[in-house]
Amino acid sequence: MDPTQQAMARLGAAGVNGVALTWVDNAGITRVKTVPTGRLAQTVERGVGMSPVFDVYLVDDSMTTSPHIGGPDGDLRLVPDLNRLTALAAQPGWAWAPVDRYEQSRAPYPACQRRFARRQAERALDGHGIELRMGFETEWMVTRAGEPAGTGPAYGMARLVELSAYLDEIVAALTAQGIEPLQLHPEYAPGQFEVSVAPADPVAAADLAVLVRETVRAVSVRHGLAATFAPVVDPDGVGNGRHLHLSLWQSGKNVCRDGDGPFGMTAVCEAFLAGVLRELPALLALGAPTPASYLRLKPSHWAGVFQCWGLENREAALRFVPGTPDDQGAANAEIKCFDGAANPYLVTGSVIAAGLAGVAEGLTLPLPVSGDPAHTRTGAPARLPASLPVALDHLESSAVLREALGEELYGAILAVRQAETALFAASSPYEIAAATRDRY
Ligand code: GLU
Ligand code: MG
Repeated sequence: MDPTQQAMARLGAAGVNGVALTWVDNAGITRVKTVPTGRLAQTVERGVGMSPVFDVYLVDDSMTTSPHIGGPDGDLRLVPDLNRLTALAAQPGWAWAPVDRYEQSRAPYPACQRRFARRQAERALDGHGIELRMGFETEWMVTRAGEPAGTGPAYGMARLVELSAYLDEIVAALTAQGIEPLQLHPEYAPGQFEVSVAPADPVAAADLAVLVRETVRAVSVRHGLAATFAPVVDPDGVGNGRHLHLSLWQSGKNVCRDGDGPFGMTAVCEAFLAGVLRELPALLALGAPTPASYLRLKPSHWAGVFQCWGLENREAALRFVPGTPDDQGAANAEIKCFDGAANPYLVTGSVIAAGLAGVAEGLTLPLPVSGDPAHTRTGAPARLPASLPVALDHLESSAVLREALGEELYGAILAVRQAETALFAASSPYEIAAATRDRY
C-alpha cells in the first residue's frame, strides 16, 4: 500500500470520516475545506478548489482587492501535507492537515504563505547552513456564558483547580495528537491561560500554532466554554500574546550558546538577532496585524513594545534566554510583541528573512536593556509602532521583507492591512475589541 492508502486505512480504522484542510489567510483567520476520508488520495493528487479571493479577506469576512489578487475570478488547488495528518482528539470523527496552495496548472501559487515560510527556511539552510527551531506560546482567554472562567489569582493554583478537568483534557488531547506540551499555566488576566509546545522547524512550528489553537478551541467547546485567542478581550486589561521562540543551529549545534558574543551567543546568532531587532517595526505589521493588536501593545504589560533586547527582560521586544549550561537546546530568543491575530507562516518566514539580512550584513546588537524601558529616564529605547498604519509605513519601506514576500503576497497583505485600518478608523477601543474578540 502506498503511504496515502495507508493513512486512509489508519484513519478509517480510527473512525475518522472527514479531514479538515486548513490554511491561514492574511488577516490571520484559519479557513477550512473538508473532504471525506475516502477522497484523501484524490485530494493529494488533484487538490481541492478554493478561490484566491480569501487572500484579501478581512477579519469581518468582507473583502478588499489588491494589485494581483481580488475579485471573483480564478481558482486554486489546496493540497494537504500528509506528513502532518493528525486525527483530532477533541473532534472525534475528524482529522486535520495543513495545505499548500497551488495554481490549477499545479504551479506553486506565489501568495501561498506556507510556501513563503518554507522558502525562507530553505534560504537559511542553503545559504548559511542555519537550521531554525521555533515554537509559539499560545495564550487564550476562556469564558462561560460570557464571563471569564477560572477567575482565581493570576498564575494561581486556584485557577488550575477550578478548571482542572478542562486543562487536563487539553494536555491529553495535545499528547494524543503527538504534540509535546512543554508547559501550561494560568496567565495574568481572568480566564487567561497559556500553553507552549516543543520547538520544531519553521513550517512545522506554524502548523503547530494552528493545531494547538484549534485543539484548545475544540476542548473548550466540549466543556461548554468559549476560547478566544484575540489580542484583546478587554482593552483596559492585559492581552493575549503569541510570542515566538527561536534558536539557530549549525551542524547540529545550537549557536545561541558557546560563542564569544553577548551572553555567550555566537557571531551568527548575534547578527541574526540584530537583523530581527532592526526590522521589528516592519515585522510588527505581520506579527501584530490588526488594529486590535495595538490595543494590546502597551508599555509595562509584558507585551514587549520597545525596540530593544535584553537578558531575560520581559519588557524588551526581544528577550534573550541563555538557558542552563547542561541543556544544549535551551538557549533561545523570544519575540514578545507578536499576537495570535498573526498568520504564523508569515511570522516565521518574515523573521527568518529579517535575520538573514542581519547575517548577510554582519550586524551586531546594540547594548542590552535591563529593567522596564518605560521607566528608563535616560537613553530610553525607541517605542515600536503604536498603531497599525505606522507599522505599515515601516513594512512599506522594508526592502528586505518586500523582496522576501514577493509582489503578490506583499500586495495582498498591504491591501488587507489598509482595509482593516479603514474598517476600524472610526471605532473606539471597546468597539474594536468587541468586533474582533470572537474572530480568532
Ligand atoms: N499576556 C502578555 C502578552 O500580551 C504576555 C505575558 C507573558 O509574558 O507571558 O504578550
Ligand atoms: Mg505568557
